[in-house]
Amino acid sequence: MSDIHTRMEALEDRLGDPFDAANPAGFAAVVAADEREEVPEGGAGALDEFGILSEFVPGPLGGRLERVDHLVELMRSVYRRDPSLGLGNCSSSLLGAVNIWTSGSPDQRREAAELLLAGKKISCAFHELAHGNDIGSIEFAATPANGSLSLNGRKESITNLDRAHGVVFLVRSDPGGGPRSCSQLFVPVADLDPDRFRFLPRFRSVGMRGVRLGGIEMQDCPVDADAVLGAPGTGLETVARAFQLTRTAMPGMSTALLDTSLRVTLHHVRRRRLYGRDVAAIPMVRTTLANAFADQLLCEAFAAVAARSLHVLPESGSVYAPAVKYLLAGVLLDALEQLSLVMGAEFYRRDGEHAVFQKLARDIKPVGFGHIARAACLSAMLPQLPTLARRSWSGAAPGPAALFVSDAGLPPLDLAGLRVVAGGQDRLAQALNAALDEDVPKPLRPLIETHVRRLESLAESCAGLRPRDLSIAASVEVRELAARYTTVLAAAACIGVWRHAPAGDFLARPEWLVAALTRLTGIDAGRPEDVPAEVEGALVEELLDRDDRTVSFGISARQYR
Ligand SMILES: Cc1cc2nc3c(=O)[nH]c(=O)nc-3n(C[C@H](O)[C@H](O)[C@H](O)COP(=O)(O)OP(=O)(O)OC[C@H]3O[C@@H](n4cnc5c(N)ncnc54)[C@H](O)[C@@H]3O)c2cc1C
Repeated sequence: MSDIHTRMEALEDRLGDPFDAANPAGFAAVVAADEREEVPEGGAGALDEFGILSEFVPGPLGGRLERVDHLVELMRSVYRRDPSLGLGNCSSSLLGAVNIWTSGSPDQRREAAELLLAGKKISCAFHELAHGNDIGSIEFAATPANGSLSLNGRKESITNLDRAHGVVFLVRSDPGGGPRSCSQLFVPVADLDPDRFRFLPRFRSVGMRGVRLGGIEMQDCPVDADAVLGAPGTGLETVARAFQLTRTAMPGMSTALLDTSLRVTLHHVRRRRLYGRDVAAIPMVRTTLANAFADQLLCEAFAAVAARSLHVLPESGSVYAPAVKYLLAGVLLDALEQLSLVMGAEFYRRDGEHAVFQKLARDIKPVGFGHIARAACLSAMLPQLPTLARRSWSGAAPGPAALFVSDAGLPPLDLAGLRVVAGGQDRLAQALNAALDEDVPKPLRPLIETHVRRLESLAESCAGLRPRDLSIAASVEVRELAARYTTVLAAAACIGVWRHAPAGDFLARPEWLVAALTRLTGIDAGRPEDVPAEVEGALVEELLDRDDRTVSFGISARQYR
């Protein structure tokens, strides 16, 4: 199919106006389906017709996946209508597939691509309730038996297990333990002996209620020994590389929940009159709207830069991906909470024209714990901080422009080329240090200086950390260093996006950057500071204009239906 911009428009057209009560993929249908713990049939059908799963298949395998930033932007069209549809019918297949693209043999990649191109789902069965984020402790075992592998154990809380055509399993392949004791298997469901496994009853959830969460139990279930992805024992290493894509892309897609929540809030407060004026004009409400808009922009700027870094700086994904997941999840959860306060009683309704808000407020929750917990993201970054501090954080050099420019050419995505550790390389932090070298408008300079100083003090605190300070038992104080590092990276990403924005564009103006850098300064202190009064007007004006024109609130400012 055509170029990405045409595909984005085509997808928006196919899914239609979400506020149209008669639209089978619109909010009314989405909310009604949620009440039944389903996704709207109209939305699912439209995605199938569009061939959405082809978007997750790399170009050389016949699909349309070329760039991670484009994938994220396209998927926002789905997530902004129904996150259950986004995860359940789309990105859950990406979770499994990235492992196959990273470590699979040419035959395994071809087989997986054929499934997705035909619209068939791939499930990713990694977690076990008994072990949660501690996936190195999984018990589901694959044991050699008569020339094949015999599977035994349970997997639970897995999306689409009972309706997938292929499953990627994380298994214990060496009972002896150690970092090389787990492997991944790609198994076509049709090949499984139905007498040797059973699906467990569906799990019910508070949010994402349309997502089919299930489990599987296997007893001496034989699978072909060729099912192993990559070399035996490299399962966790593949996770560490492949999930850099999903841990960047999926929080990036989730920014669309904030877009819709903000849009619904605007619809409410612009029409509701209290004390003889629009609620939108009440100063506290205006500030909340401006804050949410700034949050949307900063989240999308950071997600876009990190997505492009997978192409441009493949050595850095092991820190940028958990940083995006940690920071975006926190900001999005907080922003929805603040908007729900403005919605007031209207937030609490399951019917009426704003009912989708309460659904989104529930659907946003897994962004904080699904796929990997926020706390586990900090744990993943911690061991790298001393080396990053010593080798990179005092350096200053502008980052590659391709990180910050929306349609700059990018090197092809090479998932197999991603690294497990960054080796102390951090071009984004160095770009922050270089940000004051050029002309900077007056109101921005002190804010940028603040973030540069934060990086300096972070470097001092981190350089001397010893390995025993950085284990899973790291103190809260040390873990906060990793959290502070994520705000520094996000600040660098926002500055880069601002500096490279086309002249005349809203993103080239200083106001949004003042707002974003102020919010990021406050996050370290526990609560994001309000957007400064002197830029609030410019933000609210842009926000209302975008609402009037049905344009996205994120950095692409693209036309929505
Ligand atoms: C909608 C949905 C869809 C899902 N789909 C899939 C799927 O397709 N495939 C799949 O395999 N799984 C899937 N899951 C499972 C999900 O990703 C796991 O259940 C989850 O990662 C396990 O974590 P837990 O929340 O039970 O937390 P636990 O791991 O039990 O952690 C509890 C708490 O301990 C702390 N903690 C945990 N680890 C660390 C750490 N490293 N450092 C510091 N603190 C830590 C955190 O505070 C954490 O919140 C899905 C879950 C949901 C809700």
